[in-house]
Amino acid sequence: MGVFDRLGAEYEQIVFGHDPDAGLRTIIAVYSTARGPALGGTRMWAYPNEDDALADALRLGKAMAYKAACADLPLGGGKAVIIGDARRDKTDALMRAYGRQVERLGGRYITTADVGTTVKDLDVIAETTRYVTGTSGGSGDPSPVTAHGVWHGLRAVAETAFGDAALTGRHVVIQGVGKVGSGVARMLKQEGARLTIADIDAEAARALADEIGADVVGASEALEVPCDVLCPCALGPVVTDKTIGSFKCAAIAGAANNQLEQPALARGLAEDGILYAPDYVINAGGLINVADELHGYDAARARRKAESIADTLREIFRSAESEGITPSEAADRLAESRIAAAG
Ligand code: NAD
Repeated sequence: MGVFDRLGAEYEQIVFGHDPDAGLRTIIAVYSTARGPALGGTRMWAYPNEDDALADALRLGKAMAYKAACADLPLGGGKAVIIGDARRDKTDALMRAYGRQVERLGGRYITTADVGTTVKDLDVIAETTRYVTGTSGGSGDPSPVTAHGVWHGLRAVAETAFGDAALTGRHVVIQGVGKVGSGVARMLKQEGARLTIADIDAEAARALADEIGADVVGASEALEVPCDVLCPCALGPVVTDKTIGSFKCAAIAGAANNQLEQPALARGLAEDGILYAPDYVINAGGLINVADELHGYDAARARRKAESIADTLREIFRSAESEGITPSEAADRLAESRIAAAG
């Protein structure tokens, strides 16, 4: 069975790039360019085999198309993987060879950083392709804009769950206070929210708590703290077969990618009366930030655009309610209808 049979010819273009001299093996999955060029990061990972690498590129490429469509960006969606250990196998020659593969796509795919690639790598990639964003001369670290978008998204969540967008006096538990989580914590604190924070890096959690005033719990306890909103900003799935049923919050809304271990778990959350903000909608600020660079980066414009995440979430919550579906299903439908309308 070929790639097309397995995928139902869903993807516009899948490129397998090899450069034996540079040791490059890459797969670029372009899900759609209906709304614009496919912008998505390059993940460098020591995949055990090519099938796993392909599966990851396909999954992530489609997710980028949905994220861009929900954020109403003039972008399609795609993602690339480089098969290799980022600490051991990465060389400038490999990055230049990869840039040549991106260049050959003539702008249908635009790359940026992801797990295993850095701003420095993007600078090297930029030596051989024009189709790269997020370089050191560009929009820089997207985390502040992601945090800004999450904070506005949280206001839409509060409005839907509690009838009032203000987070003043609301108890929010933030799991993971790295680049995005710490930013969200500072904004919430300024608005007068009550915070509980957790991080596997206990020192980081303690330092932030001392700075802004927050309670600290152990990383393993964070998901079960009674609160108004649980805000996942760490790594890995939060809603799993094991954790579902144990949440003591009214809403789950945060920056982390892939919060649901499987899409079907969204239904369980809805049955438990928990409002879930689809992760790829509320965390789109990072994409909005790098996308802005395509028109000459303007930080204020990127932040304003990230604020529209709140309106998108309101629309998603409304259609979920009126159609009797979960917010995740409503978000997928919004993305699919926008992609279909463009294509
Ligand atoms: P980060 O690495 O700066 O922070 C992650 C933090 O989570 C770290 O402090 C880490 O110690 C902590 N952590 C990891 N596992 C944990 C656990 N089980 N319990 C508690 N804490 C844990 O990453 P980031 O850039 O802040 O991103 C956070 C999440 O948001 C990630 O899932 C990322 O994919 C997603 N995201 C980030 C951006 C962005 O602009 N940075 C954009 C979209 C989505």
